Amino acid sequence: MTSLDPARRREHILRTAVSQGLLARDADPLAAFVDMDALEHNVTVLHRTFERAVPAEGGVLHAFAAKANCLVPVLKFLRTLGMGCEVASEGELAQAVAAGFEPESIVFDSPAKTMPELRQALALGVALNADNFQELERIRTLREQLRSTSRIGVRINPQVGLGGIEAMSTAGRTSKFGIALDDPGNRERLLAWFSDHPWLTMVHAHVGSQGCRLPLIADGLRAAVDFAEEVNRLVGRRQISTVDIGGGLPVDFETDAAVESPFAEYVGVLRDRVPELFDGRYSLITEFGRTIAAKYGFIAAFVEYTKTAGGSRIAITHAGAQTATRTVFMPEAWPIRVTAHTPDGGFKRGDRAPQTIAGPCCFAGDLTATNRELPILEPGDIVSLLDTGAYYFSTPFSYNSLLEPGVYGARIDDGGSVRFVVLREPQTMSQLLQRTGASLLNGDAGVVSPRPEEIQRTRR
Ligand SMILES: *Cc1c(COP(=O)(O)O)cnc(C)c1O
Repeated sequence: MTSLDPARRREHILRTAVSQGLLARDADPLAAFVDMDALEHNVTVLHRTFERAVPAEGGVLHAFAAKANCLVPVLKFLRTLGMGCEVASEGELAQAVAAGFEPESIVFDSPAKTMPELRQALALGVALNADNFQELERIRTLREQLRSTSRIGVRINPQVGLGGIEAMSTAGRTSKFGIALDDPGNRERLLAWFSDHPWLTMVHAHVGSQGCRLPLIADGLRAAVDFAEEVNRLVGRRQISTVDIGGGLPVDFETDAAVESPFAEYVGVLRDRVPELFDGRYSLITEFGRTIAAKYGFIAAFVEYTKTAGGSRIAITHAGAQTATRTVFMPEAWPIRVTAHTPDGGFKRGDRAPQTIAGPCCFAGDLTATNRELPILEPGDIVSLLDTGAYYFSTPFSYNSLLEPGVYGARIDDGGSVRFVVLREPQTMSQLLQRTGASLLNGDAGVVSPRPEEIQRTRR
């Protein structure tokens, strides 16, 4: 059921979670939730928007960027909705395989692929985008040693400029990703690679994430398609048959406004600036991450204490840098919405005042909001951090050895009842001890340093 408005849905999910003890003041004071119905609706809109724009002969693979939310049940859910998966490490590849993605629907991008990773990806038949000339050499060598059905492309850096958040922009003149197309000699060298290697059939550009406006992304793809057309003219056939347009659409972190707009608006801009993407001559791959999942997840945490300092009201909660890492470290770039709730999860009403919302971590900057006007919080109340379905609770930061919270997917049926599925179990103390090496202590409490072959074995 998706008829309730997003705020009502979150309140309903939170109330039910509290009543079922998924969020519990002492035992589990922090938990995260994904509104699975709304996520499903968003993916439906994505498919519909592109299906309307792309002729049938082209075809589109929407590869969800696993780094945005790598929880395997989330990946599996997106697979059942018809998505593919973009991965950028051995770990993400393993997660995608565990989630059941077919190799043809996985795309492997990373600027640091190792020989074993390349070999595995080629053996599986996973699509690859080479990041640089040295990686192309490695792929050529490996292709001579094993048979591979992988689609192989090259990531180009169209060098069209930076977006609003420099750390999230990948198409500046000196960005670390892809082959810088305008650097002296690179274009000619890459053209030669394509004309000498007919197995290179794809170009990839990912201009950046959050803060890159649509025209900038479109400029990058314009450059990618110009390059593809140049290759195809040079070789006299349509060797480049796929354009991987990356992800990176900005998400609205300020309101619950219509979810339909980002894809429709984007396709509109692209049709205008890069019409070749929509006339059937290329098949397309997209790699959206944040735009798929951000709006449909939220973090909920109990308020442990409240105080004032220098006249400012502070609420100390259990959600800080360990789960809202980007917001805490780059508050200007990643401000998030916070809502105040009573201990049962209902929206808190009553007197409002500016309050600083702090996390539990032992450093002064562990704040998720500063002087935010909210109903006055008291110990035992709950705060929700909104739009955190991508790059937040799914990618925890292990600071202060805080336990990773449980993550629950919620569905609301037509009768209004909420059903939860576990997307990640809350971390246990014994898992935490294991991860921090407690199991390496032997009986007489000495530390055994493993021999190199043992290190190898524990890695597998
Ligand atoms: C991070 C990343 C994405 C996803 O970016 P979003 O901003 O989450 O859409 C897609 N492709 C590549 C290569 C990436 O690095």
